[in-house]
Amino acid sequence: MIRYAIGSTLPAAHYFDIQLTIDQPDPEGQCLRMPAWIPGSYMIRDFARHIVEISARDDTGEVALEQLNKSSYRAAPAAGTLQVDYRVYAWDLSVRGAHLDTTHGFFNGSSVFLEVLGQSDQPCRVQIDRPVGPACEQWRLATTLARLSGEEFGFGEFAAVDYQELIDHPVEMGGFEQVSFEACGVRHDVVLTGRFECDYARLSDDLAQICTTHIRMFGEPAPMQRYLFLVMVVGDGYGGLEHRSSTALMCSRNDLPRPGAQPDAAYRQFLGLCSHEYFHSWNVKRIHPRVLGAADLSSEAYTPLLWAFEGITSYFDDLALVRSGCITREQYLEAIGQTMTRVQRGQGRLRQSVAQSSFNAWSKFYKQDENAPNAIVSYYAKGSLVALCIDLRIRQLTDQNKSLDDVMRALWALYQKNGGAVDDDTIQRLVTEVAGQDIGEDLTQWINGTNDLPLAQLLTQHGVTLNTRSASGFQDKGGSEAAESFSWSLGASLKQSTCGLEVVSVREGGAAQVAGVAAGDQLIAWNGIKATLADCESLLKRTATGPTQQITVFRRDELMQFEVSLQPAPADTVYLRMPDAAAGVLDDWLGALMPSS
Ligand code: ZN
Repeated sequence: MIRYAIGSTLPAAHYFDIQLTIDQPDPEGQCLRMPAWIPGSYMIRDFARHIVEISARDDTGEVALEQLNKSSYRAAPAAGTLQVDYRVYAWDLSVRGAHLDTTHGFFNGSSVFLEVLGQSDQPCRVQIDRPVGPACEQWRLATTLARLSGEEFGFGEFAAVDYQELIDHPVEMGGFEQVSFEACGVRHDVVLTGRFECDYARLSDDLAQICTTHIRMFGEPAPMQRYLFLVMVVGDGYGGLEHRSSTALMCSRNDLPRPGAQPDAAYRQFLGLCSHEYFHSWNVKRIHPRVLGAADLSSEAYTPLLWAFEGITSYFDDLALVRSGCITREQYLEAIGQTMTRVQRGQGRLRQSVAQSSFNAWSKFYKQDENAPNAIVSYYAKGSLVALCIDLRIRQLTDQNKSLDDVMRALWALYQKNGGAVDDDTIQRLVTEVAGQDIGEDLTQWINGTNDLPLAQLLTQHGVTLNTRSASGFQDKGGSEAAESFSWSLGASLKQSTCGLEVVSVREGGAAQVAGVAAGDQLIAWNGIKATLADCESLLKRTATGPTQQITVFRRDELMQFEVSLQPAPADTVYLRMPDAAAGVLDDWLGALMPSS
């Protein structure tokens, strides 16, 4: 038994105090280690760097603690029980770390709990105490850790079967709002922290529909006995991280549904985020790449399969919204059109496959720089389009009798049979089984190749037309038609900053890059006139604009002038259309899922 106690005597200073008690420490000296990364987010974060004090003692007094590397310690052999006391600085307002102040506390176990090496499979107990101070007196606590003591939403003692489980249940504490609903007989809670207004009835009704759709797709019963959405609401933020029976989410207060208002695009995107993390309860938290299941969180774990675990999840997140009736078919097609636009605009898609993008997540996708659009492709965005292609191809080959749903159910059966570890070729094998014929060559090309996907062809076969046009502005995300669009391309993305117009990135081989303009330049004048975003856009829209333009920028503090030769605007913006006659054809794909019999 490994016992932890966590509390705080200094919430205003953002410190969690942790006491770790090991009844039977390694007689040779007990090693302890903090995770370097958190599952679901493929970047080395070195959580041990937030430990500001640490000491150890046994039944007789202080025990020497030697630091072995950036994440690990070894305690000298102890007489009897070993106790380690340490303090963790918690000021990372994200879903991946730990955060504490006098308004609330949040932590992932991977940020606060040292792993007792050699005893990771031992059961754990954790006592979570209310932080000390008048601001915290009314606080409640929300987590899906198994409760041993205390009232519902109260502080108390919790249990986990092993260390992996201990760190897979994030904890929120504060004066939060809470709403509950049931989906397929499973209780779900939503806990919201922050300052906001929310139409709780709409939120819980919509989430109930979405969760029901996911559970029905995989087949009842749901894999968890209870589920918790932990939502941190801030002025400007967005993100989510999946766990086995909960998710930690961050959203902007404008993303929540307002009482008396109609749902808007921001709310639909938030529902998509909730749907995404919920789908991960099956796809990655249970069905998982073998290498991630075996990872010890001390260094990178490489897999070419993130396109499947993030891409397929990204495909089903919006699909569940339309199947559950939370968005219309038109809104769904607009969302796919925007994803296609995002992929199409990046030159990196011609350089990197989704398998390579997955493998290099640690050093490329999670460490993107200004050249990312030219160098990499997103395993989320293109991965979701690969999933779309697989789904439509299976539907076409089986006369709509089978689909990617069946592949996911086959993966789920695999989990129930042998724990769900997926090898590099498992998904391709199951796709071929479900499709009834070998489509391996196509799949290999979509996953390991860099040619554009056959989206137009597959969509046409399902009654949807794929159309392209040039962008209508620097903020145009695509997905819909536009009254007017660019005639000319600068080959750069621009955004308004306090100092003027900032060049965010330049397209490889585009007009700006060929002329010498670089990402980070401040564009201050165009043909000798102060540059504004609106003026640049209107100039690029006019067919009468000549190709040769004078552009003046500051690079660092140096003034530079470039003669740019504009290029014809590429048709890199996608929108989908659904003729009325296609409605019936789409029922199988986008229609509601009935309860499984
Ligand atoms: Zn995800």
